[in-house]
Amino acid sequence: MAAPFELTDDNVVVIIGTGAGGGVLANELAQKGVSVVALEAGGRYLPEDYVNDEWESFGQLAWTDTRTTSGDWRVARDFSNLPAWIVKAVGGTTTHWAGASLRFQPHEWKAFTTYGEVEGANLLDWPIDADEMDPFYARAEDKLGVTRTNGIPGLPGCNNYKVFEAGAKELGYKEVHTGRMAINSQERDGRMACQQTGFCFQGCKWGAKWSAAYTDIPAGEATGNLEVREKAHVARILHDDSGKVTGVEYFDANGDLQMQRARVVCVAGNSFESPRLLLNSASSMFPDGLANSSGMVGKNYMRHLTGSVYATFEQPVRMWRGTTMAGIVQDEARHDPSRGFVGGYELETLSLGLPFMAAFLDPGAWGREFTTALDSYENMAGMWIVGEDMPQESNRVTLSDVEDQFGLKVANVHYSDHPNDIAMRDHAYKQGAAIYDAVGATRTLPTPPYPSTHNLGTNRMSERPEDGVVNRNGRAHDVPNLYISDGSQFTTGAAENPTLTIVALAIRQAEHIASEMNQGAL
Ligand SMILES: Cc1cc2nc3c(=O)[nH]c(=O)nc-3n(C[C@H](O)[C@H](O)[C@H](O)COP(=O)(O)OP(=O)(O)OC[C@H]3O[C@@H](n4cnc5c(N)ncnc54)[C@H](O)[C@@H]3O)c2cc1C
Ligand code: SF4
Repeated sequence: MAAPFELTDDNVVVIIGTGAGGGVLANELAQKGVSVVALEAGGRYLPEDYVNDEWESFGQLAWTDTRTTSGDWRVARDFSNLPAWIVKAVGGTTTHWAGASLRFQPHEWKAFTTYGEVEGANLLDWPIDADEMDPFYARAEDKLGVTRTNGIPGLPGCNNYKVFEAGAKELGYKEVHTGRMAINSQERDGRMACQQTGFCFQGCKWGAKWSAAYTDIPAGEATGNLEVREKAHVARILHDDSGKVTGVEYFDANGDLQMQRARVVCVAGNSFESPRLLLNSASSMFPDGLANSSGMVGKNYMRHLTGSVYATFEQPVRMWRGTTMAGIVQDEARHDPSRGFVGGYELETLSLGLPFMAAFLDPGAWGREFTTALDSYENMAGMWIVGEDMPQESNRVTLSDVEDQFGLKVANVHYSDHPNDIAMRDHAYKQGAAIYDAVGATRTLPTPPYPSTHNLGTNRMSERPEDGVVNRNGRAHDVPNLYISDGSQFTTGAAENPTLTIVALAIRQAEHIASEMNQGAL
């Protein structure tokens, strides 16, 4: 364990949040000899603490502080103060995640060039591309032990996958397999192989699934260069008269306000909390919020086009047995505007337990339609749709008038679907239902989006300062020693689950920060 750093130590890199972005960045910097203080709003929970019970686990790990919601998305109606499902704990949402680990397709780094002008969308090319990211993806896959990379075998398919695979092949889909998963299919890195017990979303009790909580964070701490302060909620980022950041104020586990000085600050609080923190850090020098001279902080919130399709069959499927996300169809991920929309989507099996199914199948529903579906739970199979949604300036995080337990303004999240999102979702609902119909479904159940699990944009990366918040290294255009290190730096969302890309960007950013520090440029 690292010896505690002094609050007055202005040589440390302060990282806010310890999830996919912050947790990996903290370890990568610590391995390079950089002193790091990571401040995490949540507590520390390890495999022995996880509970295989959906709602109890949600209560243990999820971020349940108030948020407010607006816009015409259905989430605003169904879950108005829970727009996102993210975690507040050491390791962040990598405790809850399913482990699907896909690279962007090369053209997705250049969405504006590839798709052209899309009315109402604020498409932009990333300032980096597939060739540049290739070595960092390779390191991320190795770190996470992603199946089907580096000679690691795929996971076996559970029943939910077998039904899905048979239907997909019947329809003629070719790219169908048990996924690229950050779940050990064989012992690796001192962690055991997956036991197929299910409950991946509740934290993997076997440690087979990669989570920063029990991989990168303890590895960083073991160097003596990383100190993680848990239950430390950062309230604002401070700066000097030259506009450089100098430290952060945070509420510690006792609710007392502390000030930690810093040489560099990296924000990795997920796509609602990161812009909220910049906006709450407004000052006379930065009246619209820190790093916000472009007015882009909080804008272009993306959440991936989502939805699910469940289906019932005459025979039991028992989809809850085995990995929660057990396989994928990638044929629809291509960009093919002849389908009536730009960009693409993935179909991935998903299983919810009965308690979550009752809450999410059709929120607010009652009556025979709904109860007979739940009666058929044992005979149900299911999949999730994840596709590229359009960035729109009007989809944004702003400060609400509501305050949290610390008296800080909470995030309001405004989101409305773009017509491209609606066209893509309709296509995916049809294809999903066709997969199950092809193998004799007795009923198919298109299911509306859940609270957002993939939260992206809001501090987007851009070549020109006027188009975004950070540059190609995640460094704020306006503030030379302030970085964004999480999914909020995404310029566009691509069709793939985002975490492998967040991790690859964090590895890349660590190289950049360490090199700038060595050269005395930071
Ligand atoms: C159920 C579920 C399944 C998922 N499955 C997949 C999947 O299969 N594949 C995939 O790619 N992605 C998946 N995801 C998404 C994935 O978990 C996220 O993309 C990823 O964790 C985001 O990383 P991040 O660094 O942006 O934020 P997070 O991992 O959410 O970390 C943010 C951290 O910052 C902390 N924080 C926030 N504000 C403050 C503050 N003011 N002070 C101190 N700390 C703060 C939070 O407590 C949190 O710990 C899933 C998510 C969920 C919920
Ligand atoms: S199914 Fe595998 S990855 Fe999921 S919780 Fe069980 S052991 Fe972990």
